[in-house]
Amino acid sequence: MVKSIPQRMCVGCRAMRDKKQLIRVVRQPEEAGLTVDLSGKMPGRGAYLCPDEVCFKKAVKSRGLERAFKMKVDESLWQEVREQIEEKN
Ligand SMILES: [Zn+2]
Repeated sequence: MVKSIPQRMCVGCRAMRDKKQLIRVVRQPEEAGLTVDLSGKMPGRGAYLCPDEVCFKKAVKSRGLERAFKMKVDESLWQEVREQIEEKN
């Protein structure tokens, strides 16, 4: 049996990649807001970003996360994402 690897689109470069390679941002239920999902298993609607500075900048510029979640993204969330990118590089 071939194990299929789930693919998700990066909100920066809009390329499809293995879910596991991407940073997941999740909109938590009950208006708890957005957070970086380190486990990849948190409930809620997710958006994905490559662990790459270039994608990060593209996503900020194109408001990729705002569009994905249809809500305002706080500076602190971007900071969290950035820290994850730095950690993975
Ligand atoms: Zn990307």
